[in-house]
Amino acid sequence: MNYPDPPAGRGSEIAAGLAEVERRILDACRSTGRSRDELTLIAVTKTYPAADLRLLAGLGVTDMGENRDREAAAKAAECADLPVTWHFIGQVQTNKARSVVSYADLIHGVDRGRLVGALSREAVQQGREVGCLVQVALDDRPERGGARPADVPALADAVAGAPGLLLRGVMAVAPLGSDPDVAFARLFEVAQAVQKEHPGADVISAGMSGDLAQAIANGATHLRVGTALLGRRTPFVR
Ligand SMILES: *Cc1c(COP(=O)(O)O)cnc(C)c1O
Repeated sequence: MNYPDPPAGRGSEIAAGLAEVERRILDACRSTGRSRDELTLIAVTKTYPAADLRLLAGLGVTDMGENRDREAAAKAAECADLPVTWHFIGQVQTNKARSVVSYADLIHGVDRGRLVGALSREAVQQGREVGCLVQVALDDRPERGGARPADVPALADAVAGAPGLLLRGVMAVAPLGSDPDVAFARLFEVAQAVQKEHPGADVISAGMSGDLAQAIANGATHLRVGTALLGRRTPFVR
């Protein structure tokens, strides 16, 4: 892919980050026999200003990921003129369903039946069709977000049958301290089971700055990359 010449300052920093991420993606594609076209790079822009999203968009990035509703809603409004596909990658609180449905194109964190009901009601009310990924708790510990692998097929059926929602696939984060290769191989199995019943639900959202190569090796279609593109986030207290 060709990117335009970077402007000075922040723009050139982001352009360098993007070039490096693209290099890593291409390396992983080459060594696993996959094609770059099978992958969507989602720039995780949480904690970074709308100005950074504009720079990313100027460099050809079309997919942006946010994990907090308030911040995401503000940036989606500020960047309404940009051709952006919005990914909500955080935990969705049921009482935020109305807001998230109003701007998100793909919600990655669908992990419980009650949330499916809330999202569906809001989507119908707003006349929207919203893509959903079932989040998988690869460590079988759903308290930190995600459904147990054994519960994923039923949840996928619920999303597929919910008016206003479109089941697009699955998502996971490699558990802390786990081998990402093992974790993403398990996610791939869960994804295959879902696709057997729902052939169109072919999205596998996996892989972040530190483990994108392992995600690509294990069939990921969507990568969620923040730090490697934009730099280390300043931790902040909610
Ligand atoms: C923040 C976040 C990312 C990006 O992580 P980096 O390590 O900064 O690339 C990916 N996925 C989710 C769910 C996140 O919350």
